[in-house]
Amino acid sequence: MKIPVGKEEASAPATVFDRLGTPSVVNGKGVYTDLGGAYLSPSVWEAMTEANRHCVEMVPLLESSGRRIAELVGLESAWVVPGASAAIALSTAACLTRGDGAAIERLPETTGLKREVVIQSGHRYKYLRMVWFTGATVRYAGSETGTSRAQLEAALDPEKVSMFFFVGHLEGRNGSLPLSEAASIARARGIPTFVDAAFLNYPPPTMRRFTDQGADLVCFSAKYWYGPNGGGFIGGKRDLVRTVSQVDFTRFESGPVLRFGRAFKLDRFTLVGTVAALEEWFGMDHRARWAGYARAVSTIADSVRGVPGVSAEPMFFTMEETLERESATPNSVRVSFDGKRFPRSAAQVHQALWEGNPRVVVHLMDGALVIAVDAMAPGAEDLVARRLKDAVAT
Ligand SMILES: *Cc1c(COP(=O)(O)O)cnc(C)c1O
Repeated sequence: MKIPVGKEEASAPATVFDRLGTPSVVNGKGVYTDLGGAYLSPSVWEAMTEANRHCVEMVPLLESSGRRIAELVGLESAWVVPGASAAIALSTAACLTRGDGAAIERLPETTGLKREVVIQSGHRYKYLRMVWFTGATVRYAGSETGTSRAQLEAALDPEKVSMFFFVGHLEGRNGSLPLSEAASIARARGIPTFVDAAFLNYPPPTMRRFTDQGADLVCFSAKYWYGPNGGGFIGGKRDLVRTVSQVDFTRFESGPVLRFGRAFKLDRFTLVGTVAALEEWFGMDHRARWAGYARAVSTIADSVRGVPGVSAEPMFFTMEETLERESATPNSVRVSFDGKRFPRSAAQVHQALWEGNPRVVVHLMDGALVIAVDAMAPGAEDLVARRLKDAVAT
């Protein structure tokens, strides 16, 4: 992709976004759904273009692509779904109904089903609400400061509970029990464990650790391996993954029951892009990827070097939007301003980046700018560096 720079900026050709009335932006924030998702590689894009040349039967394609993913990741079984949020709702629906057609058609009416989903109190987080789509209710085990074995055992009542929900990135937080222990408690009661591991995909060979530690189902979001923003997959035990396939969007018109999952629809382009990007993720030279980020970080940091009162430090910006200093794998630059030596605030520089053409979006955090490079189109760091330099020029 050609990124307009320097003098070209004024005469940058109108993009499809301009034609729709909203200018495009240069992404200095990272992978965000509100910015339309990650940057896709040319080969992933090519696979999606190729998918447009033919139609295909979606059910067999979901089966064969699921086998490919399972083989790649090291899972018993896998099924592509439109993202991790959809994965939460579909996995909950699968565990609630266990493939019972009448129950699937009735959701979110859950009378007569084991309608509780249990989670440790310390794992309360924003995506939990996807459970409610199905009509299930959430029951918290323990308190915000901790969950004991006895508390989890008491909450996991096999008469009432259809699924134990574990948030992968919150493992061990707030006094919660680790996955292997919690999943074994659930398993002893015949209750399946589902793990949201949406962004826990690096290093790639570790993606199987959740099922290895006792999860029955695990989900990942394709947005975090530079796949389509509307992609992802559920992996795990063959029988439960098959049940997911019975509640998803397929066969709504042609099958015997009206499926709960119809609103979580996938198209063949997203499916193909999800798998192509995952294959690329497993085959990628990740050291080169980190080295590329480090170079982009330096390019941007160098652009403000020597400006009085402005300093730029390489940082690692985490998926949970915190900053780690002195990381061996920087993916962002923190630009801070000394009010005594620099006449403008971070908010004013932030605004100047936004107001230029094209717009550059970066984080404004705790009185500093944080510029992430890991979702920029290739070469965009040069434009960001130039624009930052202009924005701090006095
Ligand atoms: C982004 C995210 C999700 C939602 O994934 P989508 O694919 O965007 O639906 C769920 N859980 C976590 C931890 C996430 O970061």
